[in-house]
Amino acid sequence: MTFSPPALPSVDLAARLSGRARRMTASAIREILKVTQQPDVISFAGGLPAPELFPIEEVRRAADAALTKYGPAALQYSTTEGHLPLREWIAARAGITPAHVQIVTGSQQGLDLLGKILIDEGDVVLVEAPTYLGALQSFLPYGPRYVELPTDEHGIDTDALEAVLRAHPAKLLYAIPNFQNPTGRTLSLERRRRLLELTAQYGVLVVEDDPYGKLRFRGEELPSLYQLALELTGDPDRSHVIYSSSFSKTLVPGLRDAWVQAARPIIEKLVQAKQGADLHTPTLNQMIVAELVHDVLPRQIETVKKAYGERAQDMIARLREAFPPEVQFTTPEGGMFLWVTLPEGTDTTALLTRAVERKVAFVPGSPFYALGGGQNTMRLSYSSATPEQIRRGIHALGETIREALEATR
Ligand code: PMP
Repeated sequence: MTFSPPALPSVDLAARLSGRARRMTASAIREILKVTQQPDVISFAGGLPAPELFPIEEVRRAADAALTKYGPAALQYSTTEGHLPLREWIAARAGITPAHVQIVTGSQQGLDLLGKILIDEGDVVLVEAPTYLGALQSFLPYGPRYVELPTDEHGIDTDALEAVLRAHPAKLLYAIPNFQNPTGRTLSLERRRRLLELTAQYGVLVVEDDPYGKLRFRGEELPSLYQLALELTGDPDRSHVIYSSSFSKTLVPGLRDAWVQAARPIIEKLVQAKQGADLHTPTLNQMIVAELVHDVLPRQIETVKKAYGERAQDMIARLREAFPPEVQFTTPEGGMFLWVTLPEGTDTTALLTRAVERKVAFVPGSPFYALGGGQNTMRLSYSSATPEQIRRGIHALGETIREALEATR
């Protein structure tokens, strides 16, 4: 006799998802990257740090040193706030105390936890147009109402910001002042000051996301919004700026080590939120980074800056040769990306299909806009491209663009 299990009524799984889950969206970029990941396609689409520069031997030695120094404690559960020597190093550089530093598992986790502790449904969140897609994705489940801030070559237009602040009672402003993802633009010093004043005046928190700040290959370093606020108040507990940075772009992304600097009431809430998320960032990973920050990190930053600076310069020179004159692009002073604007009416999503036929890929710009638009824009990453890939890829992209522009004439 065969056994037949009793029939179970089926539960409608989709109907059981939370409203929060329903607000989550698949990353548009991940979907796009699937198309571009054919082996013979030259991809300027991904935002990956250059893997050939990773300090593999140094990481191996640091892991060994941490295991020797800490023994089983390197593999044990540890505190939610993070490995103290690492927090001390971060705090000393910023002129604050370890009590103002929370280690997070990638700054992506920091963004999610900040969303969780700061955003109530319907809260107005001000974002650059365009902005980092991953932040939009992190905040979205918490039900923000996004309001876009116009930007130009110097970053957020602070006159427009003032008008927006007058019109909307905002909770927080999310900004990437250095070599922004996706545009590569940097917020000018004058505008940094103005942004700080305006947000303080209107009682708006600022989340300053700065994973690229140390990767400046041209021009003068600018103080972070967090630093400026600290200079003005003299008290880290009075800062309305919450600063987020990461070892992903300066060292390696795979260890998932990043941090948040903020006033203690914010850090205390972050600790509680992180306890619920993952208890703590992997102990050994934090110890490895703490072993590397003194000697390897400064050298690594120099290596990466030099390589990205050369690659950016190379890509810009090729863009000047290969692109029609009506196509505009940014010339970043650091980071990993530049931003291309085609004439109004061009659709870069449609263009991507034709570009992939010519074996080159980019990310269409529209997913970086919280409220849509930007169909005529695209992001190009130069961080992990060889000179040969830049030469051939930008040539092919130029051809694709010329063809598309001619078709619309
Ligand atoms: N913020 C910005 C602006 C980014 O570009 C990225 C990575 N692409 C992140 C945050 C997340 O970085 P991680 O989680 O690796 O620190």
